[in-house]
Amino acid sequence: MNKAHKHFLVFMGPPGSGKGTQTDMLAKRLKIPAISAGELLRWEIRNKSLVGAEIQKKMNSGRLVSDKIIREVMEKRLKKPDTKNGFILDGFPRHAKQIKDLEEILREHHEGEKDVLVFYIYISPVEIRRRLSNRRVCYACGSSYHLEINPPKKKGICDKCGHQIERRKDDAPTAIARRLKNFHQENDPLLEYFSEHNHLYRINGEQSIEKVREDIIRDLKI
Ligand code: AMP
Repeated sequence: MNKAHKHFLVFMGPPGSGKGTQTDMLAKRLKIPAISAGELLRWEIRNKSLVGAEIQKKMNSGRLVSDKIIREVMEKRLKKPDTKNGFILDGFPRHAKQIKDLEEILREHHEGEKDVLVFYIYISPVEIRRRLSNRRVCYACGSSYHLEINPPKKKGICDKCGHQIERRKDDAPTAIARRLKNFHQENDPLLEYFSEHNHLYRINGEQSIEKVREDIIRDLKI
């Protein structure tokens, strides 16, 4: 496959903006992996890895995990063979240091790829709170539900693996407030950087899932 068919994409947007839904759909279409930093970290917790306990402490209180840990976890994932034609990132990079880390990882494992396209999905704070308070996840298999838009078939039970679903610890109201504050502090400088150095596409995330998807596909010309 020639270089033109590779896609190195970064998705940004506040918690609850629908990034996960969009990146999963896009990954299937482009046949490249969608990689969520949050999901990789939750995997470390589920599997009780060496860094799992430290990650859990930070995540449960809505704080960011250290750059060192996130770099290790991301690099381990981004050097796997299934990323050779590209990848879609969600939740990484989150600030300047992590941009440098991503550039280093690209230098090391992806022939110095520079053509990273960035999508920013924006939604209002009111909509963010509404969405997150209705989100439920399965800690056993990682599936995610929304009690109004996408509820499980059987109340409280994961469709995929039958385990109980629950509210994410960091979707509790105090943790949401902290995550939003974190997000805004980090997001604006990041957006500024990407608008100067990369192609940055802004997408209205309050539209239907289908319409958001169409906008992304139109921008990517795929
Ligand atoms: P998310 O699933 O993207 O909402 O992330 C959930 C939590 O994982 C965040 O609140 C952080 O504690 C942690 N996290 C995710 N991505 C990163 C990152 N790039 N750097 C540091 N911590 C992260």
